[in-house]
Amino acid sequence: MKDISYIINHLGEEREKYFNAITPPLFQTSNFAFSSVAELKKAIASEKESYIYSRGNNPTVDILCKKIAALEETEEALAFASGMAAISSAVISFVRSGDHIVSVRNNYSWTNILMTRFLPRFGVETTFVDGTDPGNFENAIRPETKIIYLESPNSLTFELQDIEAVAKIARSHNLTTLIDNSYSSPLSQSPSSMGIDIILHSASKYLGGHSDIVAGIVCGSTSNITRIFNNEYMGLGGIISPFNAWLMLRGLRTLPARIDRISATVIKVVEYLENHPAVSEVIYPLSSAHPQYELAKKQMQKPTGLLSVRLKTNDRSKTELFVNSLKQFLIGVSWGGHESLVFPAMSFDEERTKDGFSANLIRFYIGLDEPECLIKDLEQAFSKII
Ligand SMILES: *Cc1c(COP(=O)(O)O)cnc(C)c1O
Repeated sequence: MKDISYIINHLGEEREKYFNAITPPLFQTSNFAFSSVAELKKAIASEKESYIYSRGNNPTVDILCKKIAALEETEEALAFASGMAAISSAVISFVRSGDHIVSVRNNYSWTNILMTRFLPRFGVETTFVDGTDPGNFENAIRPETKIIYLESPNSLTFELQDIEAVAKIARSHNLTTLIDNSYSSPLSQSPSSMGIDIILHSASKYLGGHSDIVAGIVCGSTSNITRIFNNEYMGLGGIISPFNAWLMLRGLRTLPARIDRISATVIKVVEYLENHPAVSEVIYPLSSAHPQYELAKKQMQKPTGLLSVRLKTNDRSKTELFVNSLKQFLIGVSWGGHESLVFPAMSFDEERTKDGFSANLIRFYIGLDEPECLIKDLEQAFSKII
């Protein structure tokens, strides 16, 4: 059992080295100096264990990575400039020309673009499967398959994958598993305990938590993280800045409080929406109405803030009017901060919205607002369209 309070308030910090300051210093430095040529030579021979240059290690970033690795119950972690830098670096690390990926369908838009637009240029093909049946992953495996890519729940439609079952299939075929765990945060879903090898985060969401940084995380075993450090991390250079790492450390201190607050609010908002006559469907994994509710209860520990709603109307202009009428919910992409947000699927181009993403699908993010305030806002916006 991980000790979340210890991890957040103590792990990785060496206060005696910096005047017992409660908050670790921001080492906003690109470079480190050496007392002799011999010391420099020793450091270059083991860059991952040394402070040489901040494209490799930086002390502020190190404190952050120790905490996040512990929260995800993996041996190590690396922090990147964005979720996409983390995801693309990790995926690239496991494939070469001629290899094949099996991925859940409807994964995050840019992850999808990585797999459909970038990787084919380097001879790597991806098969996308309906992830609600683990057998679909097994059926898509080819001799040249190297990784299985999960995002549970996936973006916008929040379909779950049975993480334990897919990890077992992957192991029996000697494949590496990666999961995007941004939706749940390390506090609601623990993929490593279910047999997943690599855990990815857009830290721009819950880990940062205040809509003020773009950052990403890769967690895994020492051998996988060492390989990624020595290749994609140093070589592609999509590293986090020390300042953003420092801001994420600040965000982490309130992660449990924020998630608990969101958990309590989201349940009230979901209940309100499920009973509203203008709503045809609420898509929320931890609602008993979700077709995979039992699986959600098994592998997710706490409700978190993202849900989608299908309005009864198929009139795009009414959906647009509803969204435009919301005041407390801000219209925008992203999520995971303090502010509640609304994102209508119709903002995507026609190509992306043609199957499954119809005009009446709206994603909500429940932030730190009072539930009564959010429900009041929804009520007045619904009154404009019924
Ligand atoms: C936002 C997001 C990403 C991309 O992360 P960035 O930090 O924006 O690069 C990846 N996966 C999911 C599920 C996301 O929501």
